[in-house]
Amino acid sequence: MTGRHRRSRVKDKQWITPHIVRITIDCGTDYRHTGTDSHVALYFYPPEARVPSEFAAANLSALHTFASPQVRRYTVQRYDSSHGTVDLDFVVHEPAGLASAWARDAVIGAELLWWGPTEAWHLPEQAQTLILIADETGLPAVASILRELAEGIKAYVIALVDDRSDESYLTPSLSVTGAGTRVTWIRRGPASGEPPAEFLRTLDGLADLLSGEPADTIALWSGTEFAEAGAVRRALLGSGGQLDKANTNVTSYWIHGQAQDARPDARNRRRNLDNRARYPDEATVHINPQSSSPVSCQSADETHW
Ligand SMILES: Cc1cc2nc3c(=O)[nH]c(=O)nc-3n(C[C@H](O)[C@H](O)[C@H](O)COP(=O)(O)OP(=O)(O)OC[C@H]3O[C@@H](n4cnc5c(N)ncnc54)[C@H](O)[C@@H]3O)c2cc1C
Repeated sequence: MTGRHRRSRVKDKQWITPHIVRITIDCGTDYRHTGTDSHVALYFYPPEARVPSEFAAANLSALHTFASPQVRRYTVQRYDSSHGTVDLDFVVHEPAGLASAWARDAVIGAELLWWGPTEAWHLPEQAQTLILIADETGLPAVASILRELAEGIKAYVIALVDDRSDESYLTPSLSVTGAGTRVTWIRRGPASGEPPAEFLRTLDGLADLLSGEPADTIALWSGTEFAEAGAVRRALLGSGGQLDKANTNVTSYWIHGQAQDARPDARNRRRNLDNRARYPDEATVHINPQSSSPVSCQSADETHW
């Protein structure tokens, strides 16, 4: 396990497409990049929580008895070892949630508490064909996988977007992959929580296309909304599908109509107030996009989250 708790500042902010914003944060010199789809857990504490000034595992386990953070997961789109920074690309959906609103409003110098990175998925060595299926939230991982794709591997990308203006997100990654990469863009249409018919047809077509290839040379990575992940599993891994489960990674990245974890309920609010008594001398840490005082990244003990 390579991840650690970290306290960072926003170093740069760039709108990559109309709905995807890149936030660059410092990650310190002890950050160990784990690969193409590694991700991090962002911690959002209730405003009344008093977070220990040393954001360390030992301190946090005591804190979490009283105040639980809301956690949101984001892909490390790029690690820059020369500057000690990581890029996180946030889809700014409407209505926005906790993390997307934070990213939309974040200013240079804003503070972020997080844990990471996780271990990443690695392309199986024998893979000759790679299927990548993503909606906007999976595109950062797809971009990082394409950037590091070995020559000679065929890649089929199926990408779902709400708005065609976000298709340009993949242009830089596609410019470095060979002619062996094919991308099919699918427009979702009005949000319904149901996979679009065109997506289901495309998956069936893909299953037919792959049926002639040896299963152990095909790898599948997918990061989409929950119902779409179900459709991917049914089409490519279910009774009709031919792929070898050992070479696949299908993840549900979000659920239509559901926040990534529960909002603080009355019991959690009670715990947060109790926490004031427990850490009376600690600075209160807010996730404050307006903050601009520069601090460098601080990491804490290795732990599980
Ligand atoms: C391993 C992993 C890696 C991920 N990497 C990324 C990444 O790199 N970039 C990224 O943007 N997301 C990524 N996600 C998805 C992201 O964590 C979720 O979209 C998360 O719910 C966003 O948090 P929020 O606070 O903005 O919204 P929440 O508070 O969780 O949700 C509020 C509302 O918004 C809806 N919602 C959530 N996401 C979307 C969306 N994309 N489009 C429309 N409605 C939505 C929910 O259904 C809910 O109704 C990743 C998820 C996982 C599990």
